[in-house]
Amino acid sequence: MTHIIQSLKTLSGNLWWSWDTEAKELFKEHSPLIWERVNHNPVELLRHISNDELNARLDCEYGEKLDRVMERFENYLKAEDTWASRNAPSLTEKTVAYFSAEFGIHESVRIYSGGLGVLSGDHIKSASDLGLNFAGITLFYKEGYFRQFLNQDGWQNEDYPLQYPESLPLEKVTDAEGKDLVISVNIAQSEVFAQAWSLNVGRAKLYLLDTNIPANESHYRDICSRVYGGDQNMRINQEIVLGIGGIKLLKALGIDTAVYHMNEGHSAFLTLELMAEELARGVELQEAKQRVRDKCVFTTHTPVPAGHDRFSRDMMHYTFDKYLQRTGIAFDDLMTLGAENPSDLNGLFTMTVLALNLSRSANGVSKLHGEVSREMWQHIFSASTPDEVPIGHITNGVHMPSWGSGLTDKFWKHYTDSLDALTASPESAAEVLSKVSDEAIWCLRYRLKRNLIDFVFRYLSNQLFHQHVYTRYLEDDSSKSSKNPLSPDVLTIGFARRFATYKRAPLIFSDIERLTRIISNPTMPVQLIFAGKAHPHDDAGKHFIQQIVEHAHRPQFKGKIIFLENYNLGVAKRMVSGVDVWLNNPIRPMEASGTSGQKTALHGGLNFSVPDGWWPEAYNGENGWSIGTGKVFENHEEQDRHDAEQLYDVLENQIIPTYYDRNANNIPVKWIKKIRNAIMTIGPVYNTHRMVSDYTLKYYLKD
Ligand SMILES: *Cc1c(COP(=O)(O)O)cnc(C)c1O
Repeated sequence: MTHIIQSLKTLSGNLWWSWDTEAKELFKEHSPLIWERVNHNPVELLRHISNDELNARLDCEYGEKLDRVMERFENYLKAEDTWASRNAPSLTEKTVAYFSAEFGIHESVRIYSGGLGVLSGDHIKSASDLGLNFAGITLFYKEGYFRQFLNQDGWQNEDYPLQYPESLPLEKVTDAEGKDLVISVNIAQSEVFAQAWSLNVGRAKLYLLDTNIPANESHYRDICSRVYGGDQNMRINQEIVLGIGGIKLLKALGIDTAVYHMNEGHSAFLTLELMAEELARGVELQEAKQRVRDKCVFTTHTPVPAGHDRFSRDMMHYTFDKYLQRTGIAFDDLMTLGAENPSDLNGLFTMTVLALNLSRSANGVSKLHGEVSREMWQHIFSASTPDEVPIGHITNGVHMPSWGSGLTDKFWKHYTDSLDALTASPESAAEVLSKVSDEAIWCLRYRLKRNLIDFVFRYLSNQLFHQHVYTRYLEDDSSKSSKNPLSPDVLTIGFARRFATYKRAPLIFSDIERLTRIISNPTMPVQLIFAGKAHPHDDAGKHFIQQIVEHAHRPQFKGKIIFLENYNLGVAKRMVSGVDVWLNNPIRPMEASGTSGQKTALHGGLNFSVPDGWWPEAYNGENGWSIGTGKVFENHEEQDRHDAEQLYDVLENQIIPTYYDRNANNIPVKWIKKIRNAIMTIGPVYNTHRMVSDYTLKYYLKD
């Protein structure tokens, strides 16, 4: 008994459980209800369940399962023969330090906002799986990113429930004497202090800096309150804590770092601290820069010039004054490092430029984004053609064990020992698929879609309930909440992501009459599920949400178009596994990579996307559908009209007829052929094991 509790506590202290289906079930089986209520947080769950209760629920099967999981967990932690030991042995000794402003590891740890965070989370998990010595650095946001709820007008409201370290698997980082480890950074004329937490992610560690301690003046305690919260001033302060504070933390911990990876420009101030360390050793400036460059690699994620972090000269002067005095770096030297035009130091300081100037390699996150980035930064490198710009690309992927878990995981394990067989190579995936009948695949699809629909029903009931209580608007709609509107027999399309306007969430509503005909076709109906958050300052994004919610309440769309509140990793997992088609219609080439579509493959979902980000590399004509050919118009309205037209055409002429084209057993054979093709071509390539091994061989290992 005590060993059972001890084992469960041990498991809850390492997020490894979140990508092991059986480990997850161990927690869920105690009480599915509490499990849901605590947002799938095992630390909280264990606090809610007494020993007696635990005892009463246990049966011997549970004990056996627990033993199995514990053995797997322990073997995982101590494995010596790993991909890294075989391919990058030096990086099993020295540490890869990976800096990111957000990490999306699991929905219960709310320190992420969107795709960048999910990518960091999937990166650290694969780094652990591959056996790299790997440390992530980020901030501890006590309010996280906001929780979204809609008011009676379909307008997004935000609230910020607190998350407490003691409710999370966080450990306080201490020094050799067991005291809280505290580092400090200079901001303006002040010294700002930060303590640190650590989080176990398999074999990797994630460190989270936290300024919310009594040693700080009150306005500095809030630096880490919210993910991307506050104004420019808050942003620069966060970035100082992340970059400069992060380096100080690594140093205080005595971590021997092989390479510093800046995931996006937010952390680029870390280069200044590395430079200051060199200057303090008496190295002169040019040489110091070179030494920093030798240790840093940079990944850019933003194909839009306006999307890059920039700070005014005044703000830089104000914020860095004391830091520069202490380190002896001249203000103009600092401004030169971040200047797009080094002969004009009155311009803005651009974090991406700092990162490009002080890293030995730089990359975009898809082939297309690499091209766009080379064009965008040509002037920084004084290159005569984009081809000469030293920015490469590594296309993003997803951590398949995290995104393929649950029913899907069990399904595949019926045919193969491990999901790895599906993602290792197209050949090994083909071999697994050869054992699986069309009927079995269709059965999996049905079960996954049913699961999603059940989830939507429960979720929506809550959502309508609170809207119903607080509003009159939905009262005439209350009958809806008593019956499940969605059907597993209907072709189901999902769209969920941040509501940044370039992603054009309402594009499919461009022609309401045509959409009505499509959705209401009695023999070949379609249903749509939307979710997504707009940044709290993004009113245009909030208008998009409102438009969709208003459309969803039109009589002809009621119960056929659904908007789910509060998109997060948990909702994402349900959606990507359940829907038949995953829709993505950004303005090309503004989607650097996008990853949500990659999450659908193992579940038998199919992508329907503008040829942007990762999709032009992956699409082969048989593994999903493309919206248009990527034709670019000068005028945004013209672009929208063209892309919407293409979207409807493909939907009406290809997607819907293929889905409803059935054999004598009511199986859509051609559709399933596409599913097989998608699994074979997407699973083995667009995963983070491939991605992290590419980073390791191409950028982390120094030749
Ligand atoms: C995967 C994911 C994203 C990224 O989606 P895109 O395809 O890049 O738009 C954002 N948010 C959550 C919660 C996700 O799971």
